[in-house]
Amino acid sequence: KRRIGMMTSGGDSPGMNGAIRAVVRTAIDAGCEVYCIYEGYEGLVKGKDFIRKFEWPFVRGWLSEGGTLIGTARCMEFYERPGRLLGAKNMVLNGIDALIICGGDGSLTGADKFRAEWPGLLEELVQTGELTAEQTKPFKHLNIVGLVGSIDNDMSGTDATIGCYSALGRICEMVDYIEATASSHSRAFVIEVMGRHCGWLALMAGVATGADFVFIPEKPRAENWKEEMCGLIAEHRKFGKRKTIVIVAEGAHDQDGGKITCEMIKDLLADKKGLALDTRITTLGHVQRGGTACAYDRMIATLQGVEAVKAVLDATPDTPTPFIAINENKITRKPLVQAVIDTKEVAKAIEARDFKKAMGLRDTEFID
Ligand code: ATP
Repeated sequence: KRRIGMMTSGGDSPGMNGAIRAVVRTAIDAGCEVYCIYEGYEGLVKGKDFIRKFEWPFVRGWLSEGGTLIGTARCMEFYERPGRLLGAKNMVLNGIDALIICGGDGSLTGADKFRAEWPGLLEELVQTGELTAEQTKPFKHLNIVGLVGSIDNDMSGTDATIGCYSALGRICEMVDYIEATASSHSRAFVIEVMGRHCGWLALMAGVATGADFVFIPEKPRAENWKEEMCGLIAEHRKFGKRKTIVIVAEGAHDQDGGKITCEMIKDLLADKKGLALDTRITTLGHVQRGGTACAYDRMIATLQGVEAVKAVLDATPDTPTPFIAINENKITRKPLVQAVIDTKEVAKAIEARDFKKAMGLRDTEFID
């Protein structure tokens, strides 16, 4: 029987459990055995109890559970070859030759590196006497399939990552709560949201809540952003709006690369010589990442989990490592390496202030 490994890695995101459930059940349905690797690469490196065979009922009810029930971790050892050697040894000892990984671009980069090194790792394990040639013989190729689990929606090549719509929903809900107080007291709130290099969460939350102003890394405001923001908010107030909401992505900066902080915005809005608004800062933090997955994330986690198992079973030695994407509402397989390169290029382009390039490389649509 074919043995498939499943793990979650990097930051958790809502919907990861749905992906595990789909992989476990599709694999079993296809006549395979499925092993969940606990704590991401940490578990792969440590082996033993971290690698457990899963049966159909094990994942019962997992669609409505937040986070990842098989744990996730950042594993320093896996960045180095000795860590990956241990990982390869544990794969062989458990008879696993295919790995489905749900994580961010870092986890998927590590996975592809592992796949590329695989024959060399096995050779070294035999040479050093860790394994016999007989043991490694059936494990010529390693199949890797990626599932993108991230709240940031920062992976090139897919319209949505597993978890991003749950986080977006949570942000909107939180902004709705805050708005009640903002309106009652006629206050301004500066709300920081997650997303690292990616402004998708901030921008879409701004659209979905009708925020007054949004700051995102991909579109730094012009030099006169202070006047622009204060002018617009003054106008909104003049029309009778009692609440002011400014959404700031954690990676927001100005055109010269200087970080735009919530404190800076608060000081501006509260300035006695200007708008003199009673202003508060709310950093939403990890409430954005936690909680149960929304219906959309459960749906893509399930459909993509099914597709990931199919991709494992279809793989030939020449198939480039795929990741499972969603493009224009269709579940697709795309080359993982290119998406990882593009994702890293976006981050580099933003750092280099080449915003046009950054937007072109990311497959999600932005609004000017
Ligand atoms: P998130 O988007 O939440 O940060 P991520 O998957 O990008 O998720 P990382 O911390 O970058 O998170 O990666 C998770 C783990 O994947 C690392 O701790 C490490 O074990 C492994 N990993 C990441 N990049 C590499 C790499 N280049 N080579 C080997 N392993 C890697």
